[in-house]
Amino acid sequence: MLLAGKAAVISGAASARGIGRATARLFAEHGARVAILDLDEQGAMQAAAELGERHLGIGCNVTNVAHCRKAAAQAIAALGQVDILINNAGISQPVKTMEIAPEDWARIVDVNMSGVLYLSQAFIPHMRERRRGSIACMSSVSAQRGGGIFGGPHYSAAKAGVLGLAKAMARELGPDNIRVNSVTPGLIQTDITGGKLTDEMRADIIKGIPLGRLGEAVDVARIYLFLASDLSSYVTGAVIDVNGGMLIH
Ligand code: NAD
Repeated sequence: MLLAGKAAVISGAASARGIGRATARLFAEHGARVAILDLDEQGAMQAAAELGERHLGIGCNVTNVAHCRKAAAQAIAALGQVDILINNAGISQPVKTMEIAPEDWARIVDVNMSGVLYLSQAFIPHMRERRRGSIACMSSVSAQRGGGIFGGPHYSAAKAGVLGLAKAMARELGPDNIRVNSVTPGLIQTDITGGKLTDEMRADIIKGIPLGRLGEAVDVARIYLFLASDLSSYVTGAVIDVNGGMLIH
């Protein structure tokens, strides 16, 4: 039980096969109370109910500052405290540079990068007051290797922005005993690809992975668990690859 007595908020944790949902399950198994925040309010409530009575689901669009503040107030009131924030919500779009319309750029950057800032801002005052907190942010191997797997260049840009933001927050919030880290997964088998990943694409990608398989949601959930728990008490500003060796650098 690595998270006994702790409370965690996880964004983007409603989708059934997603990384956030697997993380919520693992955190609950490790004794944490969990608040699931998601654009899909019904899905968030259902996912929380499946975890048990101690957990809650809250509708929240992470691109909306007012939503983030309201969700934070609700989570803190219900859980009594929040020790862990997992900025996991994200969306992707497999297009090339010349196909990126301004509204696509805005949408992808908003959810993947601005949402990390807005939701963090909603919890930082509470964490500062308690002088404790662990924030983990979802980036992607796409930020490090310049895409080329599934998401487009706007996705790579947004996920690279997350790394800069998380490192700067780590430096700023360290004196408040708040740690901020990032994870950079390779291709993980979830529904984010929206059925657009063909068997041929999958086989091609696997050829470039030394461990010879795509990732599972729980592979990433375990890294979030490490970053959320006291096992990583002296780790901040770090970027942890979860990619089966797809990118070794
Ligand atoms: P998923 O589609 O299963 O889950 C994403 C969740 O985010 C969904 O529940 C969705 O409703 C929610 N969401 C979307 N927009 C939102 C918003 N504006 N506000 C709140 N919630 C919102 O996908 P996943 O693969 O589990 O992705 C989780 C995270 O992991 C994303 O940030 C994604 O970019 C990142 N990631 C995924 C992979 C992969 O290969 N699956 C690789 C690297 C990084």
